[in-house]
Amino acid sequence: MKSFFLIGCLFLSSLVVCQKNTHILPSPVVCIEQEDKLYFDSTISVDFSKISPNLIEQLKILGSVFHKLTFKNDTNSLIKFSKLKNVIQDSYKITINKDIRISYSSDQSCFYALQSLMQMIEKEGEDYFIHKTFVSDFPKYQWRGLHLDVSRHFFSVEEVKKFIDLMAIYKFNTFHWHLTDDQGWRVEIKKYPKLTEIGAWRDSTVENHYTSSPRSYKKERYGGFYTQEQIKEIVKYAGEKYITVVPEIEMPGHSRAALSAYPEFSCNGKQQEVPGLWGIFDDILCAKEESILFMQAILDEIVPLFPGEYIHIGGDEAPKTRWKKCQKCQNIIRENKLKDEHELQSYFIQRMDNYLTQKGKKIIGWDEILEGGLSKNAAVMSWRGFDGGLEAAKQEHYVVMSPGSHCYFDHYQGKGKDEPLAIGGFTPLEKVYAFSPIPQGMKTEHAAYVLGAQANLWTEYIPTFDKLMYMAYPRAIALAQVLWCSEKPSFEEFSTVLHNKHFGFLEKQNIPFSKTSLLPILNFNRSEKGLKFWIESKKSSEQFKVQSSLNARKDEFILNSKQAITFERTSGKNFENTILVSSEATGLSSNFVIHNSPSLGVPVKLITQASPSYNSGDLTLVDGQFGSRPWKGHEWLGFDTSYIEIELDLLKKQKIKSLELSFLKDENSWIHLPVKIELEAVNKNKKYTSSETSIKKEKVLITFSHKTQKIKIKIYSLSKIPNGMPGEETQPWTFIDEISIQK
Ligand SMILES: [Zn+2]
Repeated sequence: MKSFFLIGCLFLSSLVVCQKNTHILPSPVVCIEQEDKLYFDSTISVDFSKISPNLIEQLKILGSVFHKLTFKNDTNSLIKFSKLKNVIQDSYKITINKDIRISYSSDQSCFYALQSLMQMIEKEGEDYFIHKTFVSDFPKYQWRGLHLDVSRHFFSVEEVKKFIDLMAIYKFNTFHWHLTDDQGWRVEIKKYPKLTEIGAWRDSTVENHYTSSPRSYKKERYGGFYTQEQIKEIVKYAGEKYITVVPEIEMPGHSRAALSAYPEFSCNGKQQEVPGLWGIFDDILCAKEESILFMQAILDEIVPLFPGEYIHIGGDEAPKTRWKKCQKCQNIIRENKLKDEHELQSYFIQRMDNYLTQKGKKIIGWDEILEGGLSKNAAVMSWRGFDGGLEAAKQEHYVVMSPGSHCYFDHYQGKGKDEPLAIGGFTPLEKVYAFSPIPQGMKTEHAAYVLGAQANLWTEYIPTFDKLMYMAYPRAIALAQVLWCSEKPSFEEFSTVLHNKHFGFLEKQNIPFSKTSLLPILNFNRSEKGLKFWIESKKSSEQFKVQSSLNARKDEFILNSKQAITFERTSGKNFENTILVSSEATGLSSNFVIHNSPSLGVPVKLITQASPSYNSGDLTLVDGQFGSRPWKGHEWLGFDTSYIEIELDLLKKQKIKSLELSFLKDENSWIHLPVKIELEAVNKNKKYTSSETSIKKEKVLITFSHKTQKIKIKIYSLSKIPNGMPGEETQPWTFIDEISIQK
């Protein structure tokens, strides 16, 4: 797409508001609907000579998917097609009056018109009808993507096609296919047959969350791969639905599967098996010439399989441990006057960049590839927040936004205990809906480089197609809306259409999507005396049974969604209150424990801000609830700094005996315990300090014994993860979930 169009599109889209009163998702730019209806029967006449054979085929498929409609070739047709000229790319119009008129600018836009049309059709007895409507529509972003990791868990050709089918219905146009990773190589390479003979199979797979201790493994051979013929079949299938497939061949990191087949391309040549454990591994491709030629030979076979303009070369999470000790890597650093191993990574990526550029392709990679310079054509996928994307755009590289905070669909989407195991993080439907690929404050000249966005489905904890659908939908529909137009309907309006119309459609298609967004929401907030708790339900009349147990005392009562209960903070001894909430109407069953202390619900000042990816608000620290393990994003505050300062206001001066802080230790996820904590009583005249420097456990109790109203908590963490540990040399994370006070 030429840049003048992008700017034009941005300008236009700031003027348009996506329409609210329609069943179509993503809701179109203009939709004017009348009460009058156009009736027709299940066989619809279409003049087949007016559209391409592929569109006729797609129309027939859609007819059967949506409504069991059939189409017959007739020049006197109900649906009339015409071409639009000199309009925004992929724009279309639908006018429904005495007949259905579709005008379109490209086959792709005609396909979008057909998708919208199918969503507008309703049934009344045996009759079909559409409200008399005018739709004028076009997408805002040109990269509307979903990613699928087939390495951690493998998905069959049929499953991938089903995944693509749903993408097409919601007008996605880019399928990012993560074909290789440590745990499995999934694409046939004829020159290197061992990649799939050996690299596509592992002998075991870790069970439960990989941070669980002790770890257990399912000792079963697991794997699979796609032949080149199957790849071509899927690429063609996606193309017929106007979806471009972007293959990802990971390098130089995440390459244990390739190295298990060809260990000679690692630094030390050690023969190792395909791992059945998740995480980041030290063994990566050596940067020596032989390894570069090996990857280029692989790309020689990849390029002809994928007609799209981009090849994704990964480039993320490559520890430099082996390169530091490897003579060949060190020689390249010296010969090319590189500063260090990070510049060696740039050298490696640039070699691939130049190679693919010569072959008429462009590279795209995770934002780490930005470190050290890229060719003019290279694009960047921003996953570590928005910063990588902002920097890439400043350097005039195209950007696809995919920040973990909004676009990682392997995160939890609900707070309920019934949510199936996920990697961590919390990305509910409303958070996805609130996402904007162009972050606030981004300069217009940089915004023009944002191609769009995509959601990533990493599959460590997604072993089946059913679970894949659960994690992807309905969040993918929220993303589809985000990418379609800027002034989208409110979340409530979107949810109403989603729940009333699209959930039924997905059910009819037997898609086991998540209904978490229908469940009542348990809310906590501060109250004057402690913590306020109430339940928000989509059904205003819904009643909830609340069972409370406080020491030996048990209590049971009914709560409706208009009532709230308060947990009063203790003024003396701490205690625990266990609560079970259930509802027959929605099947809700949720329990939680309130650990009551004099700090329950008190004001907290975060002098150091938590990372936007793991910031569930300062109340998290004093809500009386400990985060669960494996960690879920919403129960923790995550900091990526080496110093954290927090101030607690106890609202009145009181004598404090000790203070307990609760941290998370998960070194595989780069989450470390702090090294030192200081407590400071903030009094007018005097300063009392206590500190703790021997921190070995997640719960840290510090004796204090001072009278004060305000306490300053200073937390010191490592500034770099020590060598030899996962994520070495990067800033470790500090995760805190609770602060409680003992009197
Ligand atoms: Zn090496």
